[in-house]
Amino acid sequence: MQVIDLHTHSNISDGTLSPEALLALAAERNIDVLALTDHDSMQGIQRAKQAAEQYGISLISGVEISSQWSRPATKKSYSVHIVALNMQNPESLEYVLEQQQQIRAERAQLICEKLQQLVKIDLYPEILLEVEQQPDRITRSHIAKALLKNGVVSRLQQAFDRFLKEGKPAYVKFDGLSIQDTVQAIHEAQGFAVLAHPTRYDLSATNTRYLIDLFAQSAGDAVELAPEIDSLSTRQMVDRMIAQNNLKVSIGSDFHGEHMPWLKLGQAPRPRPEQVGIWEDFR
Ligand code: AMP
Ligand code: MN
Ligand code: MN
Ligand code: MN
Repeated sequence: MQVIDLHTHSNISDGTLSPEALLALAAERNIDVLALTDHDSMQGIQRAKQAAEQYGISLISGVEISSQWSRPATKKSYSVHIVALNMQNPESLEYVLEQQQQIRAERAQLICEKLQQLVKIDLYPEILLEVEQQPDRITRSHIAKALLKNGVVSRLQQAFDRFLKEGKPAYVKFDGLSIQDTVQAIHEAQGFAVLAHPTRYDLSATNTRYLIDLFAQSAGDAVELAPEIDSLSTRQMVDRMIAQNNLKVSIGSDFHGEHMPWLKLGQAPRPRPEQVGIWEDFR
C-alpha cells in the first residue's frame, strides 16, 4: 500500500526543516505521495518538487489557508484551516495568498506590540531573523518559540495557553477569507479543498458538526480524518459527518519538525474501506 502524507510544513512557514530536508526525511520514511502545505504560502513548492524528483516521491502542490466562519445565530467568528491540494493553475491563487500574507505580517506586528506591553520584551527583531526578514511568513509558532527562548514560558504550549490562544491577552484574530471564498479560490486554481484537522479547533461537538456541514455546503471536497489520539467516539463522529455529506477524505500528519514531536511525518490514520481518498483524483 502507498504511504501518503498530504499535510506537512517546512521552514517556509512554521516547520523546522527546509523543503529539501523534509523530502529527505520523507524518503527515509518510505513516503510515496507527499504534499507540502505551508501556511498561506507556496514559496517552498518548487524546491520541494526538485528534491522529490531525486527520491522518486510524488510531490503534490499544497498550501494551508487560514480562513474563518461564523454561525448566523451568534456573531462570533471561528478560525479554520483549509488545505488546498494539487493545483493545476496555482498562479490564480497568488493574489489571494498575497492578501493572506499581508494580514499575517500585520497581525504578527500587533501581537508583538501586545507582548511588549505584557512582558516588556520586544520579540519582533529576533522573530524577523527566523523568517529571513519576511514578516509575511510569521506564525504564532514563531512567536511562541521566541517567548520560550527568552524564558518567558517553559514550554511551547504554555505560550499559547498564557498569551496566544483565543481569549488570551496577546491574541489577535486572523481576519482571513470565508470558507466559501477560500474554496472558490482553490477551485479556480483547479485544486481540491480539504478541511484540515476538524477536531483541533476547540469547538463543541455541535459546532464541529456544523462546521463540516458548512464546509460541504461551501463545495469543499474532502475532510482530514481525525488522528488516532482522538477518542473513538470523536473519530466516528467525523466519519459519520464525512459519509452524510458525501465528502472524500484526506490524510496528513501536520508534521512541523522537532518542536512538535507528537506529529510524525507519514503517520496518518488509515481510511475505512468505504471512504474515498481525495488522492484518487490527483492528476
Ligand atoms: P497562525 O497560523 O499564525 O495562527 O499559527 C497557527 C500555528 O500555531 C498552527 O499551525 C500550529 O502550528 C500552532 N498552534 C496553534 N495553536 C496551538 C496550540 N494551542 N498549541 C500549540 N501550537 C499551536
Ligand atoms: Mn503550523
Ligand atoms: Mn492547521
Ligand atoms: Mn498544518
